[in-house]
Amino acid sequence: MAKAVKVAPKPKTIKQIAIYGKGGIGKSTTTSNLSAALSDMGYKVMQFGCDPKADSTNTLRDGTYIPTILELLKEKGKVDAKEAIYEGYNGIYCVEAGGPSPGVGCAGRGIITAVQLLKQQRIFEELELDYVIYDVLGDVVCGGFAVPIREGIAQHVFTVTSSDFMAVYAANNLFKGIQKYSNSGGALLGGVIANSVSNGYQKSIVDDFVARTNTQVLQYVPRSITVTQSELSGKTTIEAAPDSEQANIYRTLAKRVEAHELSVTPSPLNAQELRSWATSWSDQILSIERGEVRSAGAQI
Ligand code: ADP
Ligand code: MG
Repeated sequence: MAKAVKVAPKPKTIKQIAIYGKGGIGKSTTTSNLSAALSDMGYKVMQFGCDPKADSTNTLRDGTYIPTILELLKEKGKVDAKEAIYEGYNGIYCVEAGGPSPGVGCAGRGIITAVQLLKQQRIFEELELDYVIYDVLGDVVCGGFAVPIREGIAQHVFTVTSSDFMAVYAANNLFKGIQKYSNSGGALLGGVIANSVSNGYQKSIVDDFVARTNTQVLQYVPRSITVTQSELSGKTTIEAAPDSEQANIYRTLAKRVEAHELSVTPSPLNAQELRSWATSWSDQILSIERGEVRSAGAQI
């Protein structure tokens, strides 16, 4: 009879993802729907809000705010990480790093402190998480905000952008940060989530930007009233309108994140290249408006 071979259980690998982007671009909305969809797929998910606004996890918790790690530290001096973890939709673990009062101190400090606290106490392993998703403000270029990239905490970075120049500008800055740390074990870029991209010329602008910077669009997410309705009811679209087209889009995003393995070092545009790129689009849009050319923009 064959001898039974005892196989040691494989240690669970945690997929750690950071979502960056300009303030107000839709990071928390996208991240919360992604977390909710991954959780519905059976994964154990933690959503880690790293924006000093500390509202990342609101729609996972019926629109309520949770105490941040920085607040708890200020109040108690010492914090057991579990005190800072709150349960959200479908058992998602919700954490908010928090930040200093506006105008005081370094906003990135909250992220450094919060990540250290959870890592020191080995919380991710203890909770046997499959995904940790960091929701990080991307238009503040400061060391603290780069922590999830710099320290190799996250393996994959995704950026949320629309076709607006300032959003693209913030994404390009993020690419510079990723490139800088790419040789020292930093996180690499998984791709772009094109949010509020609803018509042909907006899509063309984002497509052109990703082509020039050596990345890809992971998912196009249209602007949708269902998102507004869900947010007003304090919920993600996955929870509030699971049968909607928008919920399907977030579920597709989750499947693409699940399948995603290979991230790359992006090739950001330098200031001059970005300027010329913007000017060329300004000219194209003008021509489209005047009806001189028919391009993707004609679908508007
Ligand atoms: P961020 O976290 O990047 O600061 P939020 O996720 O809080 O941005 O989004 C800002 C606002 O935009 C919210 O009111 C949100 O409901 C809205 N929003 C984001 N994405 C969409 C979308 N695809 N359709 C409609 N509204 C959206
Ligand atoms: Mg946010």
